[in-house]
This record gives sequence, structure tokens and C-alpha cells, in this order.
Amino acid sequence: MQSKNEKMKQVYMLKKKVFGKKLLKEVVNELVGEEGLPIVFYLKGKKRISEFIIAEELDLEIHRTRNLLYKLYEHNIVKFLRKKDKIKGWYICYWDLNDKIIPELATKISLEKIEKLKGRLEREKNNLFYMCKNACARMPFENSIEFNFKCPECGILMHEQDNKRTIEFLTERLNDLENSKK
Ligand SMILES: [Zn+2]
Repeated sequence: MQSKNEKMKQVYMLKKKVFGKKLLKEVVNELVGEEGLPIVFYLKGKKRISEFIIAEELDLEIHRTRNLLYKLYEHNIVKFLRKKDKIKGWYICYWDLNDKIIPELATKISLEKIEKLKGRLEREKNNLFYMCKNACARMPFENSIEFNFKCPECGILMHEQDNKRTIEFLTERLNDLENSKK
């Protein structure tokens, strides 16, 4: 029989693992894109895997594999060790997932998003916006003067847009992001 404590510990470990996977996915998606996901999930929990093995296991071309690995490496998501192959005489890179940087990268990403949103929100609050009825253009007052309030795309007169909704939306998103950081 398992003690209650042990069970709790298992549940906790499971949650931690699932959370880690989700975070890893988010970070890689954001910084490298979806195509980086198979590699990081393949490397997770493994040690020093040669790039040839990665390519073979994931059924990728070696150039494509290296390309993705270097993209991940640029963000510090993976690390490598270069070793000379004794028999073949050439160098092979062995790759590891740099697990511990993931939470740091996630924080960095959300801070950047927050900064960007704050900037957008300020812009919305401090400007009057003019918009084309056909939705081809939307610009602040100063810019719309340059065009005589006519849409640069379709030529119809633009009208002042009430951006209360946009401000509400941006404020909500900002709050969500700031809360999820805690
Ligand atoms: Zn237009």
C-alpha cells in the first residue's frame, strides 16, 4: 500500500511534468516556431544525442535538423558538445535540452509582451483614430490629416473611430498577462 504522502508526491510530480511540457511548448513555439517542437520533445529526458540520431529518429534531413538545432541554440534552448569521431575522424555534435532556461525564457517572453501591450494601450489612449468603413486602413489623427481623411487604399472618407472597446480589450489582456506572471 502506498502512503498518502507518496500518492500526493506522485500527483505533484505529474502536475509538474505536465506543466513543464506546456511551458516548453509555449516557449519553443514563440521563439522558434512549431517546427522546433519535435526536436525538443525528442531531446527531453535524454542525454547527449548525436544530430545524426535526431535526424534519423525524427525522419528529418540532416541539414534541416542542424538548421533547427542552431535556431534553438540561438535562444539557448539546447546546448551541444562537439566531439571527434574516433573512427570516422570528423566532428559530431551531441545535443542536450537546456531544461533549466525554459522558465527564464517564459518570463522574458511575457515581460516583452506586457511591454508591447502597454505601449499599444498608451497609443490607443493618447490618440484619436480614423478608420475606413471597408476596414482597409486605421490610423491616428496626425496621419489621417496627411491623407485628407481619405483612405489611402480605397479613397473613401475615413471616420473617427470610438476605440473604447480596443482599450478595454487591451487592458483585459494586460491584466491577464500580469496575473499569469504571479
Ligand atoms: Zn478603404
